[in-house]
Amino acid sequence: MARKTKIIATLGPASATADVIGAMVAAGLDVARLNFSHGDHESHRRMIGLVREASRIQGRVVAVLQDIQGPRIRVGTFPNGAVDLVQGSEVRLVAGEGEGDASRVFVQHLDTMRLRPGDRVLCADGMVVLTVRDVDGTGAVAVVHTGGRLADHKGVALPGVAMGLPAVTPKDEADLAFGREAGIDMVAASFVTSGADILRVRAVAGDVPVIAKIERAEAYANLSDILDEADGAMVARGDLGVELGFEPLPRVQKEIIARTHDAGGISITATEMLESMTTSPRPTRAEVTDVANAVLDGSDAVMLSAETAIGKYPVRTIEVMAGICTEAERTPGYPARVAAAFLPDDLPFPTAIAQAAADTANTLRLGTVVAFTESGNTARLVSRYRPNSRIVAFSPSETTLHRLAAVWGVTPLLFPRYASTDEMIAQAEQVLLERGLVAPGEWVAMVAGIPPNQQASTNLLKLHVIGA
Ligand code: ATP
Ligand code: MG
Ligand code: MG
Repeated sequence: MARKTKIIATLGPASATADVIGAMVAAGLDVARLNFSHGDHESHRRMIGLVREASRIQGRVVAVLQDIQGPRIRVGTFPNGAVDLVQGSEVRLVAGEGEGDASRVFVQHLDTMRLRPGDRVLCADGMVVLTVRDVDGTGAVAVVHTGGRLADHKGVALPGVAMGLPAVTPKDEADLAFGREAGIDMVAASFVTSGADILRVRAVAGDVPVIAKIERAEAYANLSDILDEADGAMVARGDLGVELGFEPLPRVQKEIIARTHDAGGISITATEMLESMTTSPRPTRAEVTDVANAVLDGSDAVMLSAETAIGKYPVRTIEVMAGICTEAERTPGYPARVAAAFLPDDLPFPTAIAQAAADTANTLRLGTVVAFTESGNTARLVSRYRPNSRIVAFSPSETTLHRLAAVWGVTPLLFPRYASTDEMIAQAEQVLLERGLVAPGEWVAMVAGIPPNQQASTNLLKLHVIGA
């Protein structure tokens, strides 16, 4: 059976060539993530071009996800790129972006924050922890509570500290304008805390799906409000684990995935999934189990960060992740059957047809459900009901195909518009046969709208025998 869980991987210096990106796509990359906290517009533009090229050559749909930095606070730089902070030592925190050392660390936006003695400063996903001792006019003095290596531009979390930063920063506005022009397919919004934040991102991003990164305790607390506005949610375990502590993460991950699914959104599990493969050709057994459990939790997609952005084995990591997903999906009881309730903005006919198609596919043990879809909604709806079969989404819209790249179980394929339903079905059969997705005599379910070529018109479920 084809893999259902989608793979998102971050591109970076380790994956910036046509050869590596081509091999990543061949290994199963579904969505390329560009982290706009790093790199510049020209390097991102180059990477988008390489992804489009690999996708065209291989005839596989691959989407580009723009991850915007949001109101993220970072440390400055250090001589030779990093500094070792020793436990118990004193460090002066200075507002701004300069070069520091073991006794002086620059922290962005320190001047607009309301820091108080006792506040904790968690750097690099909590690897280095400082405690604020004194606050004065030019910054603060902190003591190193947990020592370690701090590299240039690492992130800083200050749980409970009022930041005074907007959800969409001027940098995000410039990056989103660039993204629109460069043709990115989806946006991941960092450090959002409410549904209103998602609307602020949307107002600048335009008509693209927006995924909310759940990485603040406040975002988790406001999850329902966020899911009302977002197209999906990412369990961003790095900062979330800093804010909540790492112990609740497994439970919180399951909850976020389940609630995102209930809200009709797509769920992404991210951070440190195969972290050791950044430097090692094989994963730890704990990482294998973590990826498998994210699959069993029902994630639409699992994500790689440093492994593919700066790691030694970007292609191998995708192969390993794809293999773990495919094996995990063979677990008895996967995928969990869903009898979803209608959501307030669901269209009754498409929703009922999608659920019927998924049920029928399971009852008849079909290998393929075909969804003819303009906007992608029909395919997304079928996916929501988690059939055991693959879902082939035929769409004339490139935009729609790209958006479906992140959706569980969906194989997006470009397909022309036809004037009649009969012709559409006959041509679909040809494409499925040519691609080796079906065999003569096989049964498939097809979901379409009559008359064809209208949005939101799905009203037909056809059970079809290939070649008959
Ligand atoms: P965030 O704080 O947004 O989670 P991060 O710093 O953890 O970001 P990831 O996207 O998880 O970043 O990527 C892991 C590492 O890969 C980064 O710390 C950075 O060093 C490197 N990286 C990612 N993208 C790029 C890029 N475009 N150029 C240079 N380095 C990059
Ligand atoms: Mg980020
Ligand atoms: Mg990170």
